[in-house]
Amino acid sequence: MEPSTPREINYLRLSITDRCQLRCCYCTYWQDWQQLPSGEILSYEELLRLAGIAASLGIRKVRVTGGEPLVRRGVVNFLHSLQRTPGIEEVCLTTNGVLLANLASALYETGLRHLNLSLDTLRRERYRQITGRDNLGEVLAGLERAVALGFGPLKINCVVLAGINDDELVDLALLARDHPFQVRFIELMPTVSPRQWQQNFLPMTEVRRRLAVLGPMTALGRGTTDGPAQIFRLPGFQGELGFITPISSHHCRTCNRLRLTAAGALRPCLFGDAEIEVKTPLRQGASEVRLASLFAEAIIQKSARFSLPPSPFPLHSSSMVSIGG
Ligand code: SAM
Repeated sequence: MEPSTPREINYLRLSITDRCQLRCCYCTYWQDWQQLPSGEILSYEELLRLAGIAASLGIRKVRVTGGEPLVRRGVVNFLHSLQRTPGIEEVCLTTNGVLLANLASALYETGLRHLNLSLDTLRRERYRQITGRDNLGEVLAGLERAVALGFGPLKINCVVLAGINDDELVDLALLARDHPFQVRFIELMPTVSPRQWQQNFLPMTEVRRRLAVLGPMTALGRGTTDGPAQIFRLPGFQGELGFITPISSHHCRTCNRLRLTAAGALRPCLFGDAEIEVKTPLRQGASEVRLASLFAEAIIQKSARFSLPPSPFPLHSSSMVSIGG
């Protein structure tokens, strides 16, 4: 067991939909996935109420994710309201960027500035291979629009896939030389079959070794609401590089995140199946105090959990689409 150092649980990942227009090869077993009926997904009013309760318990940062959050109608108004929730200091959006070019201006007007964009390749055919869709042009147009409008910090999330995109690591990293982006490389999590995971997993030590050609990396410190990335500066780079190692060096001790699934359950840990259902009590008219106690329970479960890094298999029981990554 790791030492029981107290940590502040101040970061909530809010999955607002389980729908996504992409079919990423690593994201889920699509054949097993059952789309939730829309009535089973928390309404925006319900999400805002829960965000307010989370804020009263110390949540300061909320990341809106999915599925693909931009496919949900009304997302712009929701983000506007979420940013005005007392106690929430930072709202971020994670998107695949397919609809970003059209929505960027409206999103910017809500006050939103923090954007994470998923981009695993800069090559059209490969994008189609990874995501099952021919949308790289739209994603790059969305990124360009976001830059022009002045979004920032702008982070690019890149899942490293051995044998698929690992020959592009330098090209992707150079985005951070030429733009003020934080390009973050993510180890593949075992949401795929053990065989596929073994074929495609590349540890971050190897990613960093291959990126050493770009120059010496200087580590930056982490803020209290920061996610799990280790961030580095490189000479001549406008932006930064980040490395996210859920597999090779996962530290429960530094994980400050709770997750609320699109179906309305709190998940203290991405690697565990434990969930605390909040939708049913919410819809049965539970009081603020009762709902707050469910959040408190999730926070306590998380704080109590100082396990060794979890065994990588299986991470199948709920797809990333409903948990939100
Ligand atoms: N649709 C949005 C997007 O594409 O960013 C948000 C949801 S997506 C599930 C959130 C993040 O999880 C993405 O950056 C995605 O690449 C990452 N992700 C999904 N499955 C993963 C896996 N098996 N290993 C590592 N990262 C994964």
